Amino acid sequence: MNVRIAIVGTGYVGLVSGACFADLGHDVICIDNDERKINALNNGCIPIYEPGLDELVSRNVKRGNLRFSVDLPGSVSGREAVFIAVGTPSHPGTDCADLHFVMTAAEQIASNVDRFTVIVIKSTVPVGTNREVQRVIKHCVPEQHMAVVASNPEFLREGSAIEDFMHPDRIVFGTENEQAAVIMRRIYAPLENLGYDVLTTGIETAELIKYAANAFLAIKISYINEIADLCEIVGADVDRVATGIGLDHRIGAAFLKAGPGWGGSCFPKDTRALKATAAEHVVPMRIVDAAIESNTQRKYAILKKIENACSGSVSGKRLAVFGLTFKGQTDDVRESPSIDLIRALTEQGAKIRAYDPSSPAEASRLLPGLCMTASAVDAVKSADALVILTDWQQFIDCDLGELAAYMADPVMIDLRNLFDEQTVCSKGFRHYIRVGRKSAN
Ligand code: NAD
Repeated sequence: MNVRIAIVGTGYVGLVSGACFADLGHDVICIDNDERKINALNNGCIPIYEPGLDELVSRNVKRGNLRFSVDLPGSVSGREAVFIAVGTPSHPGTDCADLHFVMTAAEQIASNVDRFTVIVIKSTVPVGTNREVQRVIKHCVPEQHMAVVASNPEFLREGSAIEDFMHPDRIVFGTENEQAAVIMRRIYAPLENLGYDVLTTGIETAELIKYAANAFLAIKISYINEIADLCEIVGADVDRVATGIGLDHRIGAAFLKAGPGWGGSCFPKDTRALKATAAEHVVPMRIVDAAIESNTQRKYAILKKIENACSGSVSGKRLAVFGLTFKGQTDDVRESPSIDLIRALTEQGAKIRAYDPSSPAEASRLLPGLCMTASAVDAVKSADALVILTDWQQFIDCDLGELAAYMADPVMIDLRNLFDEQTVCSKGFRHYIRVGRKSAN
């Protein structure tokens, strides 16, 4: 039986979740207080880059089970479940999650419920937040009605968000109310009926699963990055090492790609928030601390690697940079290693021309004056080196011979190991530098 759902916060998570719930047969309204976003959606434009989202949204809007609104009070009315999918960035100047978007949304929702409603917290929130939200909403809900919280962390990845949502490794939710649990089960029944695992837990456990998972993945990447550094010295190949250890089922092959360090809208802020929660409870979190530190140091090491490839200094060098987002197949530049690296390279006197297939508008705000080109070829014209920072398929599909021909000095620093040295050099590149393997030339 379909569920009447509202989602507050129509960003990467809210919009994808809303469109997927609608596709699973539920009646969904997505709400945001950013009028431009909602106007765009009501005019058929998707405000973010996410493969397949355009088609999924338009199909469900046409079917009549997906709508968009800025009117939170009006949209919450009559809904059995209202999801909160607003941002939880780091609090400026601290490691803690800034929960004011969540708390504001919770109060707004609770003041407008007109029936029994589950307020489902999908935003990533530190342990204790759901209980705090439950306490706050008690004071806001009109007397004759009731609202209870459920924690339902989200595990989708940008770039494969629809696939991840529709084919989840697991669905996790925690609530202490029977009626809320029944509604949550109805919401996920179409996926549970297909055999996807639904794990019901206590509220605190659900909250912590999300942080423990993200921190573990960040640790895995930092680990392989440090192994990559060792590989470069001892003559090993990190990609083969990763394959060799990833075939062990106890380890698994995912998240073992060495690169320029992790970033994005989740790992940095979530590892910091986990560290802050642990510190608050005086529990050592040494391994997470080490991963954060390792990732910070990695940025300096990568800068050094680029300087070394440019004969010791990038001052006055024209560098083409491929990739501004934190990884391929997204337009999200939040805490992207590319942004920090471009800033550092520019400070060292490099002249950057950057290309990113998603043309992220936010990058121009973060890096005022950055020259963003419309094509890969435009970026490399007269360049002294090409630095590859993300793993877009468009980069792999480039005509390397054409790129090399346009460059003043055909040097490639491939920080995602997209190519192999033989191919790159056979296409006219003079020098190929990658991560986790010494180059032969
Ligand atoms: P986002 O910034 O893309 O979207 C948040 C949206 O909420 C914005 O559009 C904002 O305008 C809106 N908003 C804020 N306050 C509001 C209010 N009171 N009423 C209506 N709208 C409001 O954020 P996101 O990347 O979708 O992340 C949302 C949450 O999900 C975060 O806690 C994040 O950690 C978590 N998460 C994100 C991902 C991811 O890959 N992006 C994956 C899993 C979990």
